Amino acid sequence: MRIENREDFADEVAEERMQGNWDKPIKCYCKNCTHLMIGYRAANGLAKLKCPRCGLVLVSKLKSRRCEQVEYYAPPGEIIE
Ligand SMILES: [Zn+2]
Repeated sequence: MRIENREDFADEVAEERMQGNWDKPIKCYCKNCTHLMIGYRAANGLAKLKCPRCGLVLVSKLKSRRCEQVEYYAPPGEIIE
């Protein structure tokens, strides 16, 4: 891991943000029922999708261009096994 390039990397992210190309439509399949969910990623890199079929909520955060952090919230009344 090359930590010395961290500042360069931060500059790249800031540059990309200024170009305003972060409001992108995203789509992914529901982890629970495989329904195709479509939403938009906000300028801060966050996207929140709710499955219209089963109610699962997905929160996606873009950490970098090559890293996406995803959180799944089970539908009401269901637990994650
Ligand atoms: Zn679903």
